[in-house]
Amino acid sequence: MLNLFFIFMRDCIFCKIINGEIPCSKVYEDNEFLAFLDITPINKGHILVIPKKHFVNILDCEEDVLKKIGPILKKLSLAVKKGVNADGIVIGQNNGEYAGQVVMHLHFHIIPRFKEDGLKHWPKSNQEYSTKEMNKFAEEIRNNII
Ligand code: AMP
Ligand code: ZN
Repeated sequence: MLNLFFIFMRDCIFCKIINGEIPCSKVYEDNEFLAFLDITPINKGHILVIPKKHFVNILDCEEDVLKKIGPILKKLSLAVKKGVNADGIVIGQNNGEYAGQVVMHLHFHIIPRFKEDGLKHWPKSNQEYSTKEMNKFAEEIRNNII
């Protein structure tokens, strides 16, 4: 199991960026985190924030790392907003192939948005719950909080 983890890390593109094997346009670094420009930005100034320790995504990430990354996301969101004169900021983070995750090393997208950028959020929902169903979903989730 441990061996599998190391094979995965060896092939991980973001671990290679951390190790300096692949270049990046760095915007922030400390002992535990790195942030750099996304090579295919949604808007120019789109950055990725990653822990240096390899986690696949938020679902396997240590709590201590998540506690530390919050203030960094705020600091870098403010820097992106000011740096590219954005009107708003989207923070995105995909967990799993079917949620759109392509690179399997935990990363947070910080994406500048502009009044006239023409991007669309996810489509407006036409799904609805009955009250009974809504209560059932809420209960299922509550029962799985550990
Ligand atoms: P996700 O779909 O959430 O896994 O996003 C992965 C992101 O990583 C995409 O937006 C890619 O453009 C970005 N990406 C992939 N390789 C690199 C790289 N070498 N340097 C910077 N960004 C990258
Ligand atoms: Zn990695």
